[in-house]
Amino acid sequence: MRKIYVAGNWKMNKTKTDAVAFALELKSKIEPFEKTEIVICPSFVALAPVADILQETRAGVGAQNVHWEVSGAFTGEVSAEMIESAGCQYVIIGHSERRQYFGETDENVNKKIKRVLQTCCLSPIVCVGETLEQRESGKMKEVVETQIKNGLAGLSTAQMERIIIAYEPVWAIGTGVTATPEQAEEVHGFIRELLSTIFDETIAENTSILYGGSVKPDNIESLLKQNNIDGGLIGGASLKVDSFVQMIEIAEKMGN
Ligand code: PEP
Repeated sequence: MRKIYVAGNWKMNKTKTDAVAFALELKSKIEPFEKTEIVICPSFVALAPVADILQETRAGVGAQNVHWEVSGAFTGEVSAEMIESAGCQYVIIGHSERRQYFGETDENVNKKIKRVLQTCCLSPIVCVGETLEQRESGKMKEVVETQIKNGLAGLSTAQMERIIIAYEPVWAIGTGVTATPEQAEEVHGFIRELLSTIFDETIAENTSILYGGSVKPDNIESLLKQNNIDGGLIGGASLKVDSFVQMIEIAEKMGN
């Protein structure tokens, strides 16, 4: 059975104080949950305090970016080992905002994934997705296929067991426009087929593929009902404890 995730990407939001307050409140509210994998991804400065608070709970903590080198003269960068030592279990790689504003390429994504897999236990959450222009010009599948093939190039099936994929159509991120469940399902199914071609049937069947793009309490249920959608990577609606917990409750009730 594939794991179902409700994962929050806080982007550049919340001071350390705000993040700690959220984590304390989240901790007090997630005790009843038993099935859903809960993840929050705060900014670098809040990782360690948030991870300390959530240590004994079922919520994991992830970074939003990582560098592909172990250490050295890379001012402003943070290594996988540093992220792991802060108490994290996850790291987002290749988010469209990193690709759009910071020149992230599939080659960088691939190097970052490989580096992260050298750590003991960090799992990469690898983001892919097309822009509106690419979708409208009929290049959606081609774009996603290239991102998947190049991003995951050279990984073994054993390494793939640690990978989580997030399909995030760029036109749906932070815009309030969600892909319809059917639009999302079409791409999720396509990604799963790709995984079976590149790796094997077992990897395709077991890899969690999250959807991201204006997910909120109102629409998460219809998305999770789709066969190939295994959770959400959620920006805006993950910033308030109540809406974040509401989405976990919905995932739990759906019996995933
Ligand atoms: C994201 O940041 O990955 C995201 C999907 O944002 P939002 O939910 O706000 O669209």
